[in-house]
Amino acid sequence: MDQDVAAKEQPRYIKLNERDNVAIVVNDFGLPAGARFASGLTLRAFVPQGHKTALVDVAEGEPIIRYGEIIGYALKPILAGEWVDEARIRMPEAPALDKLEISTAVPAPLPPLEGFTFEGYRNPDGSVGTKNILGISSSVQCVKGTMEYAVKRIRAELLPKYPNVDDVVPLTHAYGCGVAISAPDAVVPIRTLQNLALNPNFGGEILVVGLGCEKLAPERLVPEGVNDAIVRMQDEAFDGFGAIVEAIMTQAEARLKVLNTRKRETCPASDLVIGLQCGGSDAFSGVTANPAVGFAADLLVRAGATVMFSEVTEVRDAIQLLTRRAINEDVGRALVREMAWYDSYLARGGADRSANTTPGNKKGGLANIVEKSLGSIVKSGSSAIAGVLSPGEKATQKGMLFAATPASDFICGTLQLASGMTLQVFTTGRGTPYGLAAAPVIKVATRSELARRWKDLIDFDAGKIATGEKTIEETGWDLFRLILDVASGRTKPWSDRWGIHNDLTLFNPAPVT
Ligand code: CA
Repeated sequence: MDQDVAAKEQPRYIKLNERDNVAIVVNDFGLPAGARFASGLTLRAFVPQGHKTALVDVAEGEPIIRYGEIIGYALKPILAGEWVDEARIRMPEAPALDKLEISTAVPAPLPPLEGFTFEGYRNPDGSVGTKNILGISSSVQCVKGTMEYAVKRIRAELLPKYPNVDDVVPLTHAYGCGVAISAPDAVVPIRTLQNLALNPNFGGEILVVGLGCEKLAPERLVPEGVNDAIVRMQDEAFDGFGAIVEAIMTQAEARLKVLNTRKRETCPASDLVIGLQCGGSDAFSGVTANPAVGFAADLLVRAGATVMFSEVTEVRDAIQLLTRRAINEDVGRALVREMAWYDSYLARGGADRSANTTPGNKKGGLANIVEKSLGSIVKSGSSAIAGVLSPGEKATQKGMLFAATPASDFICGTLQLASGMTLQVFTTGRGTPYGLAAAPVIKVATRSELARRWKDLIDFDAGKIATGEKTIEETGWDLFRLILDVASGRTKPWSDRWGIHNDLTLFNPAPVT
């Protein structure tokens, strides 16, 4: 035991690829000048945990290599054992989108994985939920307060009568009026709202609360063939606020009765729709949590599930690695199309890809978006990229999909829910209390120190990979089993135990008026 502790305190670094000329410091709280590694390298300065040290002398202008890829160029000469902080690195240009190799390295199909199941709620359309929730849609922000008032009463007065229903969730947002509803890019928020209501966790029960004069007509949120699904506040039949709330509650109760008949049944793992995301990344994200998630993602793909990874600005700088993996030309071109759309979206706003990295990322050792991207795409595992979704599009196929979204945690979460995600796996290095009301979120820590400190917020510790206590394979299998447990309702993630959830946040790239 004491030997173990002593071994853990030995100065350690992680070098990921033979070609790398930098490595990251593993030890909690970093290492002081003079710390000597087993390789013989001695630090010339303090290096914080997760930050890079040079393994060899790097001359001015020479590339700095991590993951076997160039993450930048030395602005000044860097000596072996020095701290390679972001100020010493010039960021390379993003890969040109017209020169990418497409489908040149399509991975062979992975061997099928049979026999894994979870207990889910099967819907009439064949989709399967991991929760049983009444989701109430809204067509405009004007009704938000009313809906929250009504939902509070539904939770207190009605929900206890329907014990098989987990929750009632108001799908409120800032869209619906004061927006350029006919602008080409308005398709994104409108499609997102339409598809959100169809998330498998809501069991196909549609109810929309609208005002009556908004630009986004409430009818547009009701799928064809569904009747009596709208409560319009300005409807002249309503005599005051009390009557409106009563109408919402009556409509809600009719749906709670139906949802209450849902029961969990054994479903193959192929019925899962899993979203992957990261937030508050650090230099360990690409070493521990994301590789473990990537391994679990391969297991899910092998089991026939749908898996989505997202966050355009975090794949843009490593897109050349993804287009090669596209299963065919069409998928490769769709990847390029989404990158090009986002490039122009950022340019319109006078920003570029460097706007992505946060102060927390940099404090955690990520020098720039290139380094962050290389660590981020590891989440996608090693299978072929089977399909691409534009923001808010519904997933209709199995395998590893790229669902184009901003990297913003809340917007990515909302868009993945619209795409049909029933469970999200979220990796974090810096730590975040992030959670979603509509689907369980498994939070995976990149470092054991965070997992210990946030023992009642973090669901899974991938940090043992860095200390050598566990392999990526073992950790990936553990995570895969936890996904099946959480999808079955056997294990509740911390955000659900505390009931702490982020707002739905729409992506509206169109103008407001
Ligand atoms: Ca994110």
